[in-house]
Amino acid sequence: MSSTPPRPRDTIAAIPAYVAGKPPTPRPGQQVYKLSSNENPHDPLPGVVEAAMKAVGQMNRYPDMGNSALYAALAERLGVPQERLAAGTGSVAVLYHLLQAFCDPGDEVVYAWRSFEAYPIAVSAAGAMSVQVPVDADGRHDLDAMAAAVTDRTKVVIVCTPNNPTGPSVTDAELRAFVERVPDHVLVVVDEAYREFVREEDPVDALALAGDHANVTVMRTFAKAYGLAGFRVGYAIAHEDVAAAVRACALPFGVSSVAQAAAVASLDAEEELLERVDAIVAERDRVVAGLRDRGWVFPEPQGNFVWLPLGERTEELVALAEEAGITVRPFVGEGVRVSIGEPDANDIFLAVAESFQLG
Ligand SMILES: *Cc1c(COP(=O)(O)O)cnc(C)c1O
Repeated sequence: MSSTPPRPRDTIAAIPAYVAGKPPTPRPGQQVYKLSSNENPHDPLPGVVEAAMKAVGQMNRYPDMGNSALYAALAERLGVPQERLAAGTGSVAVLYHLLQAFCDPGDEVVYAWRSFEAYPIAVSAAGAMSVQVPVDADGRHDLDAMAAAVTDRTKVVIVCTPNNPTGPSVTDAELRAFVERVPDHVLVVVDEAYREFVREEDPVDALALAGDHANVTVMRTFAKAYGLAGFRVGYAIAHEDVAAAVRACALPFGVSSVAQAAAVASLDAEEELLERVDAIVAERDRVVAGLRDRGWVFPEPQGNFVWLPLGERTEELVALAEEAGITVRPFVGEGVRVSIGEPDANDIFLAVAESFQLG
């Protein structure tokens, strides 16, 4: 008998670890805040907890595998046929399904870097190859370089807008021009996890773009603006053939009944949602103004987070923040991402930024 277990595929060893935002360390007598995972600081939207509790009472049953209520609600909201939707346990799961559906071993997936850290993980897990195109000095996608990076092996290009963690979004004109340059056999995935927070003059209309181009797929999530990060629901809007392929790779019964019910109820609370998003955007603007007043220079944030490109001084700020009761997200040697949280938490962040000696 051998004591060596069977070997997984070679690409599995290449999967980088996901560094999740840390929870805050409890500090006796001090209020602590988590600003490390871009979560929504508001309580669930009205009616959501009730809908989820009702679904909890049915936990002996499998969820509706067809996500019918969710697809119906989304189709109505978005004005697209249900056949163009594919849901999963978070948009990260939808990305896994999509890569599984479209990539053969060794196929290339082009995306900006630094960007969302789930991308290299999902690409490696699919057995595909990451082609990372550096963001420019302002943390923006270099769409020219990304178009130039497309080869015969490229199956998917991901555009993350606004870009996590650097913050800027691309404009609609930029994205349209980019899509024109990408060959039709390459799928362009527009990851719009933070779309609700965008206050760009020429905001991306990815839905319209996906209507015009069969190779454009939009990914959205209930985790950020909708405040359902813990329930894991995301979805893609795509050409119906693409959506069918993504759904074919989905985990059967993936999205739980509780999550489906909560997502549908959240869509019903649109007015309150928009108010909360406005409140977060107002806080973001306040934090941005406060940082700029203090001499900080950083990329333009269009999501619910701010990127401070601190390079070697990253850990220094993280330690100061921790001391003050806020947990932020370090990217070692590169910078710090700080989520916009409760006003009190944002005040602490501004105080920390004030006390940090800019060189
Ligand atoms: C948070 C985030 C998501 C959403 O992930 P879920 O799996 O839906 O929680 C997707 N893309 C980016 C860039 C994100 O930051």
